[in-house]
Amino acid sequence: MNSTEPRIEAVILGSGTSHGVPMIGCDCAVCTSSDARDKRTRPSIWVRVGRTRLLVDTAPELRLQCVANGIDCVDAVLFTHHHADHVTGLDDLRRFNWLMKKPMPCYGTTRTLDSLANMFSYAFRQAHDSPHSRPELALHRIDESPFEIGDAKITPIPMLHGKLPVLGFRFGSFAYCTDCSFISDESFKKLEGLDVLILDALRRTPHPAHFNLEQAVEAARRIGAARTYFTHITHELAHEATNAELPDGMALGHDGLRIALK
Ligand SMILES: [Zn+2]
Ligand SMILES: [Zn+2]
Ligand SMILES: [Zn+2]
Repeated sequence: MNSTEPRIEAVILGSGTSHGVPMIGCDCAVCTSSDARDKRTRPSIWVRVGRTRLLVDTAPELRLQCVANGIDCVDAVLFTHHHADHVTGLDDLRRFNWLMKKPMPCYGTTRTLDSLANMFSYAFRQAHDSPHSRPELALHRIDESPFEIGDAKITPIPMLHGKLPVLGFRFGSFAYCTDCSFISDESFKKLEGLDVLILDALRRTPHPAHFNLEQAVEAARRIGAARTYFTHITHELAHEATNAELPDGMALGHDGLRIALK
């Protein structure tokens, strides 16, 4: 990366799978762990590229995640896909409408934005009621083509999540690839030369729509980022014990992890 590239900083807001950790009604060792890194809210990151601040997905705990991490500016939201664990915090964007004094630009594929319109019809209707009763969104349809938001040059990374096409996102030497079970050769090429990668690693047992830890380590090796953090983690993986067995340069991510890139 040359010195004119904007600086990148990322915060893992949530590192957990769709049920979160601890799960409702589970008293396993990880769900009852006293290690704060074993507490995982639903998956999302905040990333700053130069002066541009982006949120990837709006997890159910968006308000709590922003309060916990001091996030008070978001210039735009990128959506990876429409699953509930990635979108059901959408209503909390009302607060950023107020803070940023404008509708929130939201980027997603046609499939993702159409699903959001079905799930949150009140937010997509031309409202006659108070504007404060719904988030104000400005929709931007994206495909596999690179696009720019302010200082951020963004390359979508097409992946499969089971049979569902989803997007990862690359920002300079950093990429966020959650919810995937297959990465094509073409997409592996788009991930060459990374400093930091955040990648899906659900649990040890195989799953039809997510990399398990073994598959994630294999994909991370092939991508070859200097540092890889795993995310979307279930209660099967204890933070410290799992990290002890991972190869050099790979670790489980955790809520609140701040990553500064050179
Ligand atoms: Zn548990
Ligand atoms: Zn998903
Ligand atoms: Zn998910």
